[in-house]
Amino acid sequence: MATTKVPEVRDITRIERIGAHSHIRGLGLDDALEPRQVSQGMVGQLASRRAAGVILEMIKDGHIAGRAVLIAGQPGTGKTAIAMAMAGSEIFSLEMSKTESLSQAFRKAIGVRIKEETEIIEGEVVEIQIDRPATGTGAKVGKLTLKTTEMETIYDLGNKMIDSLSKEKVQAGDVITIDKATGKISKLGRSFTRARDYDAMGAQTQFVQCPEGELQKRKEVVHTVSLHEIDVINSRTQGFLALFSGDTGEIKAEVREQINAKVCEWREEGKAEIIPGVLFIDEVHMLDMECFSFLNRALESDLSPVLIMATNRGITRIRGTNYQSPHGIPIDLLDRLLIIATSPYTEKETRQILKIRCEEEDVELSDEAHTVLTRIGMETSLRYAIQLISTAGLVCRKRKGTEVQVEDIKRVYSLFLDEARSSQYMKEYQDSFLF
Ligand code: ATP
Repeated sequence: MATTKVPEVRDITRIERIGAHSHIRGLGLDDALEPRQVSQGMVGQLASRRAAGVILEMIKDGHIAGRAVLIAGQPGTGKTAIAMAMAGSEIFSLEMSKTESLSQAFRKAIGVRIKEETEIIEGEVVEIQIDRPATGTGAKVGKLTLKTTEMETIYDLGNKMIDSLSKEKVQAGDVITIDKATGKISKLGRSFTRARDYDAMGAQTQFVQCPEGELQKRKEVVHTVSLHEIDVINSRTQGFLALFSGDTGEIKAEVREQINAKVCEWREEGKAEIIPGVLFIDEVHMLDMECFSFLNRALESDLSPVLIMATNRGITRIRGTNYQSPHGIPIDLLDRLLIIATSPYTEKETRQILKIRCEEEDVELSDEAHTVLTRIGMETSLRYAIQLISTAGLVCRKRKGTEVQVEDIKRVYSLFLDEARSSQYMKEYQDSFLF
């Protein structure tokens, strides 16, 4: 049998830096969209938080189609934090072909709420007959007679179903519902057999004397899946199981086009609603021309999420070309961007952010230690200082202390290098590294 070869690739991973931003709960704005100095875990950076708030409003009002947001500023100035405050985010792994990763990330960020009509039969149990043949055969057979308002129907039960039914003690006189599509039986709003168990047993749902349409109640069931999930389900032989195995591979452009057309059709028929999510791409200057032209095209699509990008680069070369451009982004894409700038923190703000992080990580800090850590934050980087919190906490606990002291900070500062000291070290010792 000919098998199509699916490249060995990993799925796009959800952003892993969530831990570092767990103290961020929102943009910290008041009702008039004015930023509070310290609120929802956010400190300072007022102008960019105000701008982010305005953009969020535009997004809510649906006024941002075809455009994207760029957050630009020096390292550690809260670009990722602001993007996090704006949305739940995704970052892509570069293990797949680049535009495939981007496609998947784009499509994961679009939800499709599908309304499905299912037929639910409600009735009163007249009789349950369960025959248990001699042990060893494993099989159990049974029938359930259900009386609806107009007539009695006989429902053939599968093995598993009998187990769950007897456990839940369904008795004659109980009012139950049967979902015709899945075979799910529920009593008092509680379901006690799952469609998948039932199907796995190979049992069949059979309706006897039940004229189509007449007795059925129609109920609406709503599922939300991402476009990416629809792609995977439709392009892998194992169907939805591919989502669990992570074997999503590359998806053919034709499959995506067909799915887009189908989803648009559902939307027009009122069967589905499109919920654009937010896609965050950090270090956007790492993308090359191929990716940028993909982004340009993708933003034109009806099915595009809100795109937020971040960069800490100024004028730099666009990857894969010899051209220089602001943030390493081609001018035609830059033209579509709403740009938010972040600026460095004052000592007071750095102190405040570190305080919030200590509370978040449950680490007590003496005043002097706080001052030393703030100094480190100002002179090295905020991110480095934040990383020292948990390690200093560990050192403190090890000596059975309850409050991190200057000594603990000194200890971890000497154990772990910040970027500048690490580079210096590499320069001094490069001869011993290269032989
Ligand atoms: P890079 O350019 O290196 O990616 P960045 O600008 O994305 O840096 P972040 O990762 O957002 O910087 O910030 C570093 C750390 O400081 C994070 O833990 C972040 O949550 C925290 N932080 C940054 N700015 C703020 C702020 N205004 N309020 C509270 N916490 C902040």
